Amino acid sequence: MAKELVGKPHPQSYFSEFPPESEWDVVVIGAGPNGLITAAYLAKAGLKVVLVERRYEIGGGLATEEILYPGFYSNIHAVYHMMVDYMPVLRDFQLDRHGLVWIKPNLQTAMVFEDGGSLLLTRMIEDTMDSMHKFSQKDAVAFGKAMRMWRRIAREIVVPATYIPPMSPLDISMAMQRTEVGNAMLELTEHSPLEIINGTFENDHIRALLLYTCCMWGLDPRETGLGLFVPLYLDRLMNKCYCQGGSHKMGNSFGREIIRAGGVILDSSQVNKILMKNGKVAGVELWEGRTLYSDVVISTLDPHTTFLDFIGAENLTENLRKSVEGWKYDKWSFNTLHVVSEEAPCYLPKDPWASQSFMTILGFDGLDQMLAHWDNVIAKKIDPECFGGHATCESFWDTHLVRVPPSKAHRQVSFFQMHAPYDIQGGWEAKGPEIEEAILRRWAKYAPNMKRSNIVTTNQETPVDIETRFPNMRRGSIKHGDYLPIQLGCFRPNEECSSSNTPIPGLYTAGASNYPGGCVLGGAGYLVWCFEVPDGRSDLPSHPCPLPEATLPPAHFRRRR
Ligand SMILES: Cc1cc2nc3c(=O)[nH]c(=O)nc-3n(C[C@H](O)[C@H](O)[C@H](O)COP(=O)(O)OP(=O)(O)OC[C@H]3O[C@@H](n4cnc5c(N)ncnc54)[C@H](O)[C@@H]3O)c2cc1C
Repeated sequence: MAKELVGKPHPQSYFSEFPPESEWDVVVIGAGPNGLITAAYLAKAGLKVVLVERRYEIGGGLATEEILYPGFYSNIHAVYHMMVDYMPVLRDFQLDRHGLVWIKPNLQTAMVFEDGGSLLLTRMIEDTMDSMHKFSQKDAVAFGKAMRMWRRIAREIVVPATYIPPMSPLDISMAMQRTEVGNAMLELTEHSPLEIINGTFENDHIRALLLYTCCMWGLDPRETGLGLFVPLYLDRLMNKCYCQGGSHKMGNSFGREIIRAGGVILDSSQVNKILMKNGKVAGVELWEGRTLYSDVVISTLDPHTTFLDFIGAENLTENLRKSVEGWKYDKWSFNTLHVVSEEAPCYLPKDPWASQSFMTILGFDGLDQMLAHWDNVIAKKIDPECFGGHATCESFWDTHLVRVPPSKAHRQVSFFQMHAPYDIQGGWEAKGPEIEEAILRRWAKYAPNMKRSNIVTTNQETPVDIETRFPNMRRGSIKHGDYLPIQLGCFRPNEECSSSNTPIPGLYTAGASNYPGGCVLGGAGYLVWCFEVPDGRSDLPSHPCPLPEATLPPAHFRRRR
């Protein structure tokens, strides 16, 4: 039994109508975006599905909670939704029926500098070039030229590949060599993000904006073999959306689809063990003592929890055990300061747009400071005088987050988020207050109205808090595992399990530690249903909902059943 998961059992009375033993076609573990998506497809296909969630709320990283002050809501995890234009589940289930509204700001990111300058990243390449012109005409032209090809790489190759099973590096290489855009992608892939940015641009501010954008989800800027994330993240972070009413609404919409199709969501419970019979999966045991029998179990948790804690090392082949033990969690986590303030942050730059951006990067004037901060994080430190991060005033975009009497309704909900080590020297409990003060000082340097007297309340969510809330985000791993070349593509989480199937009959994996990876992509949850679970189960329909042709991957990518 997982040490982290031992706790006081819930009283049976939570679900007195629920029998101590029951049988299911499929048990899904974890109601984050991936578990919800899988369960929705399977329930819609007519299967008897139960989705087990440890928390009192479904959604996983899609969480909007009242953590600050009564009536003020914050998105404590996912805020920036990068795949709204592509996620098949949104169209397959027509989720706008649930009032799911996406806001796509034109001004996506501003980077503000100490001298009052600013740089903007907008949805339109041309508007971004205009902003870059102030700093370097040469870079503006280079951005326009590079971005036109990078956008093709993202939209014609990398994004569609998110929703098809992983291919081997050899197959990818052979497929890519056939086209101009494929060759351009192969060439980029070999390099590190830092090499690509430095090799394409000359201005320090512009380099800093673009490198931050490419690496903000925890990419090592100097790691070679990660170059394909440069076009992917630049394109996607120039098109990110906000979920009106908070990200939790997205999770809720999936939940409604599951229930509408006859599926069951068992929240405030948790899986403690996966049952095995004759070498095959036989169901799960919950912490309150219930048993759910099923010959198909889909886990969306991290590899340690699924394989070592739930199945047990003794039931794994040596290869699988070694690969799970060698799994590397994210080297950077996030530390987030959520605040309610009297006013929305008003940043130094004269350009009024700089204070109306979806995301604002602050604290870094150039590459050296940014790299120094990331190096500190890897060395388990934060220098209170040299760090930066990104901020968003959520209530500027979403007035639904402030539900208070008119006398307080002018107040705003914002956050500042920075890369941070899980095991900081001195520990978070001791260091937390000092870091909170340093964040407020730094924020006020770039947005002078964010001074203490304007701050009504704060709540700092450290990497340790992330793990406490979600034990599957071990060491505060927002992606359930690092992005290293050996943990990506068909190697995520290992060659045997990357396409969701595992060597253990009846066990499938579908969380962020699986291909295609972390963030709210919905890829792993979609792929496990679409391509894997039905194998050998002739009783399952081939696809629960008609898929419009536009949502299907290009024909040469599709796998035949
Ligand atoms: C601070 C922060 C900010 C982020 N910001 C963004 C963002 O802006 N955009 C973005 O795209 N991504 C963001 N992410 C990443 C994103 O939230 C995750 O990568 C994503 O939620 C992973 O989805 P998942 O379904 O695989 O797993 P999760 O969302 O982790 O869901 C797993 C679920 O399993 C449950 N669980 C755990 N143990 C058990 C058990 N034993 N039994 C039953 N249930 C269990 C958990 O409670 C959880 O609900 C952020 C993450 C963090 C931490």
